[in-house]
Amino acid sequence: MRADIVDKVRAAGVVGAGGAGFPTHVKLQFEVQMVLANGASCEPLLAGDPYLMTHQPGPVLDGLIAVMNCTGSDEGTICLKSKHTRALATLREKMSENGYAGRIKVFELEDFYPAGDEFILVNEVLGKIVPEGGIPLNVLAVVSNVESLLNVSRAITDIPVTDRYLTVCGEVNQAMVCKVPIGTPANAVIQLAGGPRISDFSIVMGGPMMGKVLTSGSAPITKTTSGIIVLPSNHNVVRDKCRSLDQMRFIAKSACTQCSRCTDLCPRYLIGHALEPHRIMRHLAYNPGWAGDVLDDALICSECGVCEKFACPMMLSPREINAAVKQKLLKEGVKREPKREAYQVSIFNDTRKIPLNRLMERLEVTKYDIHPPFYGDDIRVNQVSIPLQQHLGQPAVPVVKTGDRVNKGDLIGEIPEGALGARVHASIDGKVEAVGENIVIKQ
Ligand code: SF4
Ligand code: SF4
Repeated sequence: MRADIVDKVRAAGVVGAGGAGFPTHVKLQFEVQMVLANGASCEPLLAGDPYLMTHQPGPVLDGLIAVMNCTGSDEGTICLKSKHTRALATLREKMSENGYAGRIKVFELEDFYPAGDEFILVNEVLGKIVPEGGIPLNVLAVVSNVESLLNVSRAITDIPVTDRYLTVCGEVNQAMVCKVPIGTPANAVIQLAGGPRISDFSIVMGGPMMGKVLTSGSAPITKTTSGIIVLPSNHNVVRDKCRSLDQMRFIAKSACTQCSRCTDLCPRYLIGHALEPHRIMRHLAYNPGWAGDVLDDALICSECGVCEKFACPMMLSPREINAAVKQKLLKEGVKREPKREAYQVSIFNDTRKIPLNRLMERLEVTKYDIHPPFYGDDIRVNQVSIPLQQHLGQPAVPVVKTGDRVNKGDLIGEIPEGALGARVHASIDGKVEAVGENIVIKQ
């Protein structure tokens, strides 16, 4: 039975929908004690997860039970914020039915950021600390986003991942949660939301904290896209994303006061990891080159953005710097060994959680937090550009060629032999127009 579930999840191309796209079938091959369904939805403005828990509780819970069965876990916990009262009520009612009763618990989270970070979630719910550079499996837990669980339940009935639920909001005429075929261009999603209501705008893919500012509106929706946010080009969330590492280093040297507020509020530091962004800032400002033990600590930064968007009084960018240093080190193949044998949660961990309403005020996005309605399942697009790399690991290998006709759900990209990866499927019916890093399909 376990092998069957793993095979079906692998065949359907299910990946972590809430993070970097870790292939789900790989997680399912381990024995664990606890499965956590991550419905924390901690990024401001994003409403897809509460929508799914409210309107599709059955498939979400079925996916959770399948993952529990597969990993030999007796316990499953669905984690969501107390403020999502409709989702809580619907889930509790569904959980009283046969098959769920007694097997699944609910854990109510406070409304803070980043409650949905796997490391923070594991600590909140289980009181355990995932080691530096580790994953929840290290503490015998699996964490799966609620949309991933929905996709697992669909995979069991041989339905592959072809669509993505996401929030479209900000400066659009009709903010909404919608379900769109993977590969749909961001611009088309914005048009679906009534189009932009300002002329000079930037597009953020993902949430306002961890999302990326797009350089092109033709960028496709992927299996991990949780939101499309339209913001004025000079908005607080968009600013500072385009500086080079050398420019940021120069600014750090001239403006960083070494107050260490970025470290004091860093969620990973607060759970006991050896990550102190103010020391990285100091090292970069006063040492030439890219070597240094302290720089390796950038490898354990989650890029949550608390240091940059909430903590720093000088409006500096420790997160952007960490991300750039991390990329550089990963390219060079630098590996970082954990610096601590045991971890101690800070006595300030509870009092330094970032309340979401204050974070939204700081980000200047409160006016966009309007609980958007769902726009149906019948969205049609006539062209998609589906990336072969939407997940951690190796890109999928195309199994179609230009001119082939495909139907929605057909396999178009296979996992390379022996590699970590995920399958990719056609998200609309049509003809293959191009095969490169993306597969373009036109109706
Ligand atoms: S919070 Fe800002 S000014 Fe203070 S140490 Fe960190 S980067 Fe420097
Ligand atoms: S982005 Fe900043 S606050 Fe978040 S983990 Fe990295 S250093 Fe810590």
